[in-house]
Amino acid sequence: MRWDAPGDVHWVEFGIGGLGDKTEETATPEALLRLHEGAWVIRAVSLDDDGRRRTQTSSLVVPEQPELLGRFDVLVSEPEAELRDLLLFFNQYSMEPRFSWVAVIDGTGRHRWYLPGDPPPFKINRAHVGPDGQPWFTTYHWDREADWGTLHQVSWDGLHRERWSLPEQHHDFVVEDDSVTWLSWVYRDTPMPGTTSPVATDALRSRPLDGDQPSILWSVLDDHPLDLRPPCPHASAPKFKPGFTEFSHGNSVVSVDDEWWVMLRYLDQIVAVDKQTGATKWSLGGPEATLSYDGVPPSHPHFSDAWADGLLVFDNGDHRPDDTSSAIEYVLDGEVAREVWRFEHPDGAHTPFLGDVRRLPGGNRLVVWSSSGELMEVTPDGRVVWHAVTPDVVGRVTVLDPGWQPVF
Ligand SMILES: [Zn+2]
Repeated sequence: MRWDAPGDVHWVEFGIGGLGDKTEETATPEALLRLHEGAWVIRAVSLDDDGRRRTQTSSLVVPEQPELLGRFDVLVSEPEAELRDLLLFFNQYSMEPRFSWVAVIDGTGRHRWYLPGDPPPFKINRAHVGPDGQPWFTTYHWDREADWGTLHQVSWDGLHRERWSLPEQHHDFVVEDDSVTWLSWVYRDTPMPGTTSPVATDALRSRPLDGDQPSILWSVLDDHPLDLRPPCPHASAPKFKPGFTEFSHGNSVVSVDDEWWVMLRYLDQIVAVDKQTGATKWSLGGPEATLSYDGVPPSHPHFSDAWADGLLVFDNGDHRPDDTSSAIEYVLDGEVAREVWRFEHPDGAHTPFLGDVRRLPGGNRLVVWSSSGELMEVTPDGRVVWHAVTPDVVGRVTVLDPGWQPVF
């Protein structure tokens, strides 16, 4: 709705069956309300230059959310849970029928915003909130049979959409300093020992958003010389990238000061790449590593949240005897990564793909067991204070800032 607002003080009153809610009073005559389904009454209020209250009232029906968008049931919501007052942004998808979305839910598990992806074979595979405060996401071919890697930027109000081609894109990207950096495949024709198909491994490519050509900043083949041998049976099974045997299966890229930290999943290794030179600065765990874990290393993990001397890792646990998945926090202490916190899935469940763990503003952790559609808020002493579940797969999650307001 739109109304010509007089004066410099504006707010919106709104609610279902009444006007119980109210936005902050602001000098900006724009507001975006994150309304769940239902019949709403909305009143725009402005104070004119003489301080008189001027209003316009409308009604708005927000339709029920689509059948194909999996709903969330909140099973636990303790009063102390931070997520009761926060919003979560992520991609979610269903395997049957195939459908993918980017979405925002609130602490009651209700969707407050969602955007459908294009129909298969396009799949939304990763979503971030960019430095502009807007949603960004990538899509690729659902079965990775063609190179259709694409970056999308949309505005929260849905009025603006833009897209860029990201060659060989898979798994993860970062938008920073007016450019995008993404995980991509590079290839070698010679099969690895014991295999017959050509090799796919990982590179970081980047491009300015103003249209210049993409370039390779760093690649396993040229900048991280390792013996190209199948590290485990996952690499030998050409199932993720048809026609190729994957050596490293990079799945995460995180910006930490002047470095990109890259997770090479099949190698159980994190590599730090100099953003300016593309040089490998250190590697943690896995083959020929310069840093090591002080205990049992994670097995085929993912990660999204890292800082100068620490990180949170979602340890899928693929090669552990009981294959229970866990969230682990490490402190980087010289040449050792020291485990300072661990939370295993309470039922011993295994998350075979994706998975995420992030800090919340008040010190709790959000753990995402992607394949079972479970999100949990966990306290430092390991209590689950918020727990939601959906039939969909949940991708990796961004916690929107408290008091988040979208930027127009
Ligand atoms: Zn493996």
